[in-house]
Amino acid sequence: MTDEPPDRFDVAVIGAGMAGMAAALFAAERGLSCIQVGNGGGILFASGLLDLLGVQPTAERRLWRSPYEALAALALDEPGHPLARVEVPSIRAAFETMVTCLGAAGLRYAPLGDSNRSVLTAIGTIKTTYGVPLSMVAGVEALNVRPPCLLVDFRGLREFSARQIAATLGDRWPGLRHRRIEFPGCEALPELYAAHLARALEIGETRARTIERLKPLLEDAHAVGLPAVLGLARVGEVHAAFEAGLGVPVFEIPTMPTSVPGLRLLAALESAVSARGVIRRHQATVRALAFDRDEGAATLDLEGVPGGERVVARAVVLATGRFTGRGLTADRGQVRESLLGLPVRQPVSRESWHQSDFLASSGHAINRAGLETDGAWRPLDASGKPVWPRLFAVGSILAHQDWMRSKCGSGLAIATAWAALDQVARQLGGNGAG
Ligand SMILES: Cc1cc2nc3c(=O)[nH]c(=O)nc-3n(C[C@H](O)[C@H](O)[C@H](O)COP(=O)(O)OP(=O)(O)OC[C@H]3O[C@@H](n4cnc5c(N)ncnc54)[C@H](O)[C@@H]3O)c2cc1C
Repeated sequence: MTDEPPDRFDVAVIGAGMAGMAAALFAAERGLSCIQVGNGGGILFASGLLDLLGVQPTAERRLWRSPYEALAALALDEPGHPLARVEVPSIRAAFETMVTCLGAAGLRYAPLGDSNRSVLTAIGTIKTTYGVPLSMVAGVEALNVRPPCLLVDFRGLREFSARQIAATLGDRWPGLRHRRIEFPGCEALPELYAAHLARALEIGETRARTIERLKPLLEDAHAVGLPAVLGLARVGEVHAAFEAGLGVPVFEIPTMPTSVPGLRLLAALESAVSARGVIRRHQATVRALAFDRDEGAATLDLEGVPGGERVVARAVVLATGRFTGRGLTADRGQVRESLLGLPVRQPVSRESWHQSDFLASSGHAINRAGLETDGAWRPLDASGKPVWPRLFAVGSILAHQDWMRSKCGSGLAIATAWAALDQVARQLGGNGAG
């Protein structure tokens, strides 16, 4: 640790998954100085699709056409669910701000509207989601109408099989054909990787050769589906070139993780927060966090920075995720919060963590374990009081939700980050509503 006085910030965000990214972005949008610590979390494994709320109640696996009607049902069924505690206008504002910022960073989404959309997955199942990247949106229309359509994959790309998607959909989409082609310049390679293809398609000549190989396969196709490899940083340009070259709508289908859309989302979020002046420590973790009640400031000790680093912040947002993010850990007896040892709401005994049927539709109690907060998103200590007046918690570390089953991963992250940053701005005197 150096002898320099520590840098001081309005807000320190711990975590750089979807919740941490949203919190850093919304802090900067509110004019607050911000440092963010942590790596990209689950974003790398995500599909680029931004779920708001697809399933409610999870035990019935009821799918909703409108995420806002689903939210109304959630508020009645589970008023303690974190998403049910965020006002709908705030959720709308949070998503609009998020997709506007992503668009400015080069990753454009279709206008959000009031409806969920159905998209094809890499295994031919149908996923309900809310925010859809522009490069995938023609697939939503194709899936709705099911016209003659061509799916194409590339020999050697293991993460995606057009044949499997067509087989899974079977006679529910009779006009769906599939073909496999060689990726130009890779004819001798046994195995291909999505990120390499995406980079290669940013080169005009490779793109033109690929389009030429696709043209003779078109026949009566009204649309063409491809694995999500249409560029990394320049997806808009590559996608437009395919549509112009083929003369029909072209859509991407996310491949298995780690997918190119996940890489794009992470890159766009990193670029969006950096462009707004957020100081990022993406190789570092917070080793210790202490609160000075007199000064009204928190001190964070970072590791993973040469020589270590200490920073001081007036507010702290904990966005450290669950077990994979390492915000929560579990030993043989109980679930713990990793950084501060905060109380975790959890089943009374390990025996009740899981149901005997792994696929039970009601899910497992352990997935709803997490932090309890007060109405201002401040984690509570053992006596039920806020741990510190300006410590906030957002995203999947929160209790009373099972984001995987509800299909609300990004929604939970984005909405709670927005609501918590409203509270931060209110306390610090930023420009509140963003
Ligand atoms: C395979 C997969 C697919 C997904 N697909 C979708 C999808 O299609 N649509 C959708 O909406 N969502 C999807 N998600 C969910 C979404 O991307 C987020 O993972 C989820 O919303 C949880 O985000 P989070 O930020 O709360 O936690 P995480 O993503 O787990 O992030 C936690 C962060 O905290 C950091 N951290 C932990 N401890 C410390 C510390 N002491 N110091 C500093 N940093 C720390 C971690 O490094 C990480 O950056 C998917 C997730 C996964 C894993």
